[in-house]
Amino acid sequence: MNILGNTKVLGVFGHPITHSLSPVMHNAAIEALDIDYIYVPFHVLPEDLGQAVEGVRALGVAGVNVTIPHKEEIIGHLDDVGELAARIRSVNTVINRDGRLRGETTDGPGFLRSAEAAWGRLDGANVVVIGAGGSAKAVAFALADAGCSIVIANRTGQRGVELAKVLEEVFGQGRSTAVPLQGGELAERVRAADVLVNTTSVGMHPDVDGIPLPPELLRPGLRVYDLIYNPSTTRLVREAEAIGAHAVSGLKMLVYQGALSLEMWTGVEAPVDVMERALNAHFAEVRQG
Ligand code: NAP
Repeated sequence: MNILGNTKVLGVFGHPITHSLSPVMHNAAIEALDIDYIYVPFHVLPEDLGQAVEGVRALGVAGVNVTIPHKEEIIGHLDDVGELAARIRSVNTVINRDGRLRGETTDGPGFLRSAEAAWGRLDGANVVVIGAGGSAKAVAFALADAGCSIVIANRTGQRGVELAKVLEEVFGQGRSTAVPLQGGELAERVRAADVLVNTTSVGMHPDVDGIPLPPELLRPGLRVYDLIYNPSTTRLVREAEAIGAHAVSGLKMLVYQGALSLEMWTGVEAPVDVMERALNAHFAEVRQG
């Protein structure tokens, strides 16, 4: 990597930030594309977010990703916010155009692009989304926007009901409903579903034996997407594959949401294969070390 006087800076704001995988995949993409950028991590405490955004303007940083816990809070510090980001009140990408900062979200679109790359078009699909947190909202909006019907199953039932209600308000009656995470209704909905998406942290490192629903609800042919990328193969993905379901790991969403951010900053098509290989190589190195 050759840093010169006109090299443009990209980065990621988060707290904590040391475990972020974004620098790994973005710098691999920058190198493969041979473009004059560098991508760095920025540890930004919640109380310093406003100053950090001013720093983007003052230093002419070309763009940043935004991760936990800043995705909603940053909205108040930006000049413009894209329609989808405003609707779900979440920004993961900031683009600096001559000092004017615009916020966008690539989480939902990245999820959808990766799911359709694996399975083909999803319009008209019946989807069960487990969870009702920030990523569930991003994913459910992207799926509903693509013409899917959504069932939300969340541990805290009321939160699931609220997300389903918001989806109905935006996409119309009959497009979304909520069911309890435990009990017969979920089994019935999964039986009728084309796609199942886990957006909870159940099964994430170090709780690697966790699974967000009883494995006997999985069946051959069901498309299963687990948003978790650490580990890259969760128990849900393993059990789904063992039974003949088609499973996708959260690593794909991580890559595609990053690819869309990079395209917004540079206008160049992102090399998704290079980015995925860089992440896999990084995981292999971490396992060995
Ligand atoms: P969040 O907003 O905190 O939501 C967490 C969700 O998980 C809530 O629905 C919560 O239910 C549920 N949950 C937590 N512990 C549970 C348990 N023991 N049993 C049942 N449900 C439980 O988090 P988030 O930002 O949406 O992230 C969720 C997961 O998605 C994380 O693993 C994250 O790494 C992953 N993710 C991946 C990508 C990617 O690019 N692949 C992007 C974003 C997030 P309650 O409402 O009942 O608390």
